[in-house]
Amino acid sequence: MIQHSILEQRYNLPSDVQFCTKCIMPNTRPSSSNEYEHYTAKKHKYIEFDKKGVCSACRFCEAKFDGTINWDTREKELRELCNKFRKTDGSYDCVVPGSGGKDSCMAAYILKYEYDMHPLTVTWSPHLYTDVGWRNFQSWIHTGGFDNFLFTPNGKIHRLITRNAFLSLLHPFQPFIIGQKTFAVKMAVRFNIPLIFYGENPGEAGANVSINQAKFTPETNENEGFRLDFLQGKNLDEIYLGGTSVSEYLEQGVKKSDLLPYFPANPEEVIKNNTEFHYLGYYKNWHPQEAFYYAQQHCGFEVAPDRTASTYSKYNSIDDRTDDFFYYTTYIKFGYGRATQDASQEIRHGDITREEGVALAKKFDGEFPERYFKDFLEYIDISEEEFHAKVDSFRDPHLWEKDGNKWKLLYQLQ
Ligand SMILES: [Zn+2]
Repeated sequence: MIQHSILEQRYNLPSDVQFCTKCIMPNTRPSSSNEYEHYTAKKHKYIEFDKKGVCSACRFCEAKFDGTINWDTREKELRELCNKFRKTDGSYDCVVPGSGGKDSCMAAYILKYEYDMHPLTVTWSPHLYTDVGWRNFQSWIHTGGFDNFLFTPNGKIHRLITRNAFLSLLHPFQPFIIGQKTFAVKMAVRFNIPLIFYGENPGEAGANVSINQAKFTPETNENEGFRLDFLQGKNLDEIYLGGTSVSEYLEQGVKKSDLLPYFPANPEEVIKNNTEFHYLGYYKNWHPQEAFYYAQQHCGFEVAPDRTASTYSKYNSIDDRTDDFFYYTTYIKFGYGRATQDASQEIRHGDITREEGVALAKKFDGEFPERYFKDFLEYIDISEEEFHAKVDSFRDPHLWEKDGNKWKLLYQLQ
């Protein structure tokens, strides 16, 4: 019982698992949170379901197709926005963050070649590039034709935080996510560029964002979907990286200067820069599969040579070998796998039916990502036994039971 209550405290999972009646996402999908407050006992918030049992991501997506949104008006809004920010003196007028995946390829290409903008693309490096990920990154720049800054934080520190994030949070991708959330903002401030364009709207994944929210500015800081003051005057005991406080790192001899790449931009500088954050997905009807075809055609984007572990797709999140373990650990902690995520998105966009999605999830969710296992263990410097013991310690008894030697989920997708 003691163990159970610790786990309850750790996750705050919904006590009754439900699956969305339109897609196949369960209500155990956590919503985005402040990573700097993420320590072992942190309670998550989860995706919301309405009275009809439909998830907020499905409702967000419906509005893209049912006439709620006038896409012609939004196209005009985008032209006006670009007219307002476009620079003619050769300097950059917007920042487009990305890795050269399908979404960042499409966003940068549209802005530069259809709207005559001059984007600076910026990349927070993956932990462990895959071969296809590196080729796609290069193609983005060389075939697509963009200026780019690739930033790779100190590899020793990145490994250390990744190891801690795996051991304390079972979340080895957290150091990458921190960079994704903060790096573009810092680059915008450094180059005095007041406009940052992200691709897909976070509402597509179930974040609590209105379909009518075009932008975020420092003044909309209170909004759930956008934050600037991640650190809110916290001291170093209260700021966590990989579930370990910054003071602990300092006590272990890590220099604060080596941790600074993981700190967010200074809010005052962001405000002084008049930075605005826009999602291209607000202005353009974002269809993930079309983004893939677009990136292939214009930026030479390639699919992975093999099917991605734990799912059926070949073109989503394929640039980092750590990615497989991000999805696998999500499956352990929240009980849904990578195929569920891919299929849910495709169901929402009418690419497959719910029945097909259920079959795909049942077939591929939870498949162990064998292909990069050795690389991953080496990277975070733990043994195979330690890996499995740690994974099992994060299984919540609400979700998992052991049947002989095998773990099985208590809730089955229907
Ligand atoms: Zn749904």
